[in-house]
Amino acid sequence: MENRELNFLVKTAELLSGNLTTSDMVKELNAILGGYVGLRDLGLYVFDSTTNTIRNCADNWSVIEDSDALYQCYEEVQEHDFVINSKAYKLPPVVGEISFNINSLVMPIVKEGKIFGLIDLKFENNTSVDMKFLFLMKIFASQVSLKLENIVLSEQSKINVEFHDSMKNIAKIIETQYELNYIVPLIGEMLDRFISDHLIYVFLRQEGELKLVWPKACKDERIYEALKQLTPETTYVLTNEDKIGAFPLMSEEGEITGCIVARSTLDKLSKRDISYLEQLTRQSAITINRAKVYSKVLQYATLDALTNLNNRRQFEVRLKQEIATTKRQNNPLCAMMIDIDFFKKVNDTYGHASGDAVLRTVALIIKEHLRESDIPSRYGGEEFAVLLPYTHISEAKIVGERLRKAVENTEIPIDKKTINVTISMGLAEFDTKETGEELFERADKALYEAKESGRNRVCISKNA
Ligand code: GH3
Ligand code: MG
Ligand code: MG
Repeated sequence: MENRELNFLVKTAELLSGNLTTSDMVKELNAILGGYVGLRDLGLYVFDSTTNTIRNCADNWSVIEDSDALYQCYEEVQEHDFVINSKAYKLPPVVGEISFNINSLVMPIVKEGKIFGLIDLKFENNTSVDMKFLFLMKIFASQVSLKLENIVLSEQSKINVEFHDSMKNIAKIIETQYELNYIVPLIGEMLDRFISDHLIYVFLRQEGELKLVWPKACKDERIYEALKQLTPETTYVLTNEDKIGAFPLMSEEGEITGCIVARSTLDKLSKRDISYLEQLTRQSAITINRAKVYSKVLQYATLDALTNLNNRRQFEVRLKQEIATTKRQNNPLCAMMIDIDFFKKVNDTYGHASGDAVLRTVALIIKEHLRESDIPSRYGGEEFAVLLPYTHISEAKIVGERLRKAVENTEIPIDKKTINVTISMGLAEFDTKETGEELFERADKALYEAKESGRNRVCISKNA
């Protein structure tokens, strides 16, 4: 072999031993091969046997739909070594002296004798090569094959790890939560994060009908059509050219209590997606069913299990009582709405267990900074509502600011480090013309202003 050839192979080997994204790898391979021969373009494609499609490695594994030529080449290389200028050839046993003009060259990517992809080369006009070049390309192809095999394997094992994490997390929610209002969005978010190239919807049966509970809206009529096809015997329903999958949530008695729907915007659901979704739906059903049993048992409970503050139900009861007292005695009363800033990020970065630890800590700080007569509650996921009886807005503002600073300055231990979070707050003073609900609506609006104007601040509702 001559220096130029050796140099080319060494450069390729060096590149492939590094840690690269696939799109950067294709770019670099283009440059290296382009330095050796008159190359116009190099494409790398992998065949996805679960969907029978060819995917472009350089473009985030997107499916190739508009190139019949590529699909045809995939057929032809099954029996041949190369497709040169659109004709298939086998490699001759020895290097001959013949040289010829080359426009295009397609080679198989092989793993254990099985073809799982293609290298597609396009050359500049009047590029002349000889047989030696084809042998060189054969070595090049096997170098690239090994690398791609590793990449595909490591992506697969990454997915497996994420899958088991999702299963575990869905099972674990029940250790700290049993309010469906909290649980369902958490499950929805986990699935959405795991099945990232599909949209996830969660439906629950309420008053005999499947109603959307996560996310807030679903306008796709075909999804509602798919729901209609569910029977207690179905394992799942696929529609819209297999781009929509509906996976029923079953109760222990075998009734449909809800449904998880995955909708793809690009590819159809692969066998692998379906198998993951089936298992995740089964785990979700277990968690949701258990939560229902718990919440029945705890129907008369007043405290939130995670934070030990009043739960939402108790909040409604106390609000009614306090409004009645305030009206009767003509005392001042203030409402405080608190929401943790960028809480989603805490969950995403450190996991839900750490998110829960933060919620508990913030709840503790809230309790510490209030008076005995104040009534703090967990209003929703990471939102707290506080009733401040006998309190004017000027005092509420002082309490609120103190609380905001205390949260900001608390180092919350998580794993082996500590983090800080901030809260935004809305305050409103009760006006005898309004209801308790209206009072908290105003506090919520003020909270929204606090978020809009930069977070980590207290805003006050001006008028009722
Ligand atoms: P911001 O309020 O500053 O606009 O941003 P955010 O990220 O806090 O906003 P958002 O309201 O969208 O996110 C709230 C997140 O709270 C969503 C959910 O993941 C999380 N969450 C809700 N309830 C719980 C819970 O009980 N435990 C944990 N760990 N997370 C929860
Ligand atoms: Mg919120
Ligand atoms: Mg928030």
